[in-house]
Amino acid sequence: MATRSLKKVNKEEKKGRKRVYYKKVVYDGGEFEVGDDVYVKRREDASSDDEVPEMEECRVCFKVGRGVMIECDDCLGGFHLKCLTPPLKEVPDGDWVCGFCQARKLGKDVEFPKPPEGKKTVRTLREKLLASDLWAARIESLWKEVDGSYWFRGRWYIIPEETASGRQPHNLKRELYRTNDFADIEMESIIRHCNVMSPKEYAKANDQGDDVFLCEYEYDIQWHSFKRLAEIDNDEDGECANGDEDWNSCKEDDSDTDEDMEYEEENERNAHARPSTTHQLAANSRKGRFFGIQKVGTKMIPEHVRCHKQTELERAKATLLLATLPKSLPCRNKEMEEITTFVKGAICDDQCLGRCLYIHGVPGTGKTMSVLAVMRNIKSEVDAGSIRPYCFVEVNGLKLAAPENIYTVIYEALTGHRVSWKKALQLLNDRFSDGKKIAKGDDRPCILLIDELDLLVTRNQSVLYNILDWPTKPHSKLIVIGIANTMDLPEKLLPRISSRMGIQRLCFGPYNYQQLQEIISSRLKGIDAFEKQAVEFASRKVAAISGDARRALEICRRAAEIADYNMKNQISSVNSSRVKDVVTMADVDAAIQEMFQAPHVQVMKSCSKLSKIFLTAMVYELYKTGMGETTFEKLAMTFSCLCTSNGEAFPGWDTLLKVG
Ligand code: ATP
Ligand code: MG
Repeated sequence: MATRSLKKVNKEEKKGRKRVYYKKVVYDGGEFEVGDDVYVKRREDASSDDEVPEMEECRVCFKVGRGVMIECDDCLGGFHLKCLTPPLKEVPDGDWVCGFCQARKLGKDVEFPKPPEGKKTVRTLREKLLASDLWAARIESLWKEVDGSYWFRGRWYIIPEETASGRQPHNLKRELYRTNDFADIEMESIIRHCNVMSPKEYAKANDQGDDVFLCEYEYDIQWHSFKRLAEIDNDEDGECANGDEDWNSCKEDDSDTDEDMEYEEENERNAHARPSTTHQLAANSRKGRFFGIQKVGTKMIPEHVRCHKQTELERAKATLLLATLPKSLPCRNKEMEEITTFVKGAICDDQCLGRCLYIHGVPGTGKTMSVLAVMRNIKSEVDAGSIRPYCFVEVNGLKLAAPENIYTVIYEALTGHRVSWKKALQLLNDRFSDGKKIAKGDDRPCILLIDELDLLVTRNQSVLYNILDWPTKPHSKLIVIGIANTMDLPEKLLPRISSRMGIQRLCFGPYNYQQLQEIISSRLKGIDAFEKQAVEFASRKVAAISGDARRALEICRRAAEIADYNMKNQISSVNSSRVKDVVTMADVDAAIQEMFQAPHVQVMKSCSKLSKIFLTAMVYELYKTGMGETTFEKLAMTFSCLCTSNGEAFPGWDTLLKVG
């Protein structure tokens, strides 16, 4: 690829040492945009040695062009219609498999025609990608470094062979997996565009050349599990609603329009959090960055300096958000140690017989968070090689449309293949009960985390029975961690299940006020936004009611919002007597009033038990379906499940209608 002119580099230096981010870059004659998929060069020896044909040659006559070609759905080879025996007049509808592949499928030993002597066969980029000789990545962001070189942040795609389970029978030839692995890559390494499509787009694509691929799943390189892209993107849509960034658009040679972009520290930190591991052995990789092949060994560029300054109150609001991952989890050392011992004991035990941990505790006591933190810690020990690798599957009962769907979700997470729940159950039984391996050579233990376990209780309790029965089978290597709110869930279940589940239990007690104070203070460390009494007041109030850290954090965040709002209003109003820019007890009190004294909260507090269950069922339905409407029948089903898991008698349809 072309080299950038020196003139421009000098200009950049004068403008100040900052990266400039772009939405689109014209580079070496090609237009590259955030969201584009590209082929990336892999090794020095694969760089520019062999010519790369735009078009594929016919596998019979070894010539390019000259007439209509058809692709075999099996070997992906191209054939001229007229070179086939018998020749075809037009491209047939639907799948087409060449005669060579058909014969091979029948067990015949046929060979593809050999190229004429002296003719070097040239492989297309697609062939090289599928042979791991080059890579594909999705452009996540684009920028120009202070030295004038152009870079992009790429999200790697991998071929099925590169996953832990290897290529599976259900994988398509052109199937790729998107990973959660990123790398900074110099644009020199880009060969050209390719096109990675969703199954829907792929099904419709017919005339889009050789560089089309299909991608349905994201592959988690840490946990070796698969997740549907459609599901991930749905989740993210909600989170990134206000993530509209103001990008520059760049043409190679009009650097006058360049403007520095305000780039949030958060993004920047995420961007450099972890060096890429997917392709770490590449010749052009240095500390997780991928340099253009010609420039291996170029100096590292200093980190970008951020420009926006948040106020203390804004920082407090951000750090108190429930979605913000706390840096530490105070007050849960003992519990986390116990979980660690359990998990390590289970994976190091070759038999893993009957391993099951039941974690319970009232809402907001850090159950989910602690388990996930432990799993993260253990993961780093696996990376360091001190613990053997395992696979980790996380399921949340609240996200399942029906309890039985858990089979589909588990099987899909293990294989990247979605089948009906009945089929999944059968396949999981094969694996866990009969010890049949899903992939050859894969005998890693599997840790299954089921959050909101109580929602899996069905009338005959078969789902829980099956899942808790697997760990007891020899060679299943399955370890189950269940989380729920009710302490006595095992006792409410049929004895055959409770005997399996109740072996090892861990209780997360409600937090007392000192603990809540510590949790809030540790989140606010280094931020001078709260009066000490304000934090104590919030902690005491919540400890007296529930001991729920989620609620304590919510109150404090709301109090910071109120204080921030008052502060900003005060600037424009003359009458205000408020001067402090910190959160006071009065702000916390206002937040508490809002939360506990609101009329709808009062109504919920004073209504009957059945009404409360009814409301809970409605919320559950809402979460499950994401829709604001449901039918009475569906609600009644959920109501009945909640009754079963909480040891309540179902009141009957008439009463339920009245309650409604
Ligand atoms: P539920 O039963 O409702 O699922 P849970 O026990 O799983 O609740 P978590 O989701 O783990 O609760 O925690 C709720 C929130 O409280 C999280 O946002 C977490 O950040 C915070 N939290 C809980 N415990 C702690 C702690 N010890 N330190 C810091 N933050 C905490
Ligand atoms: Mg939880």
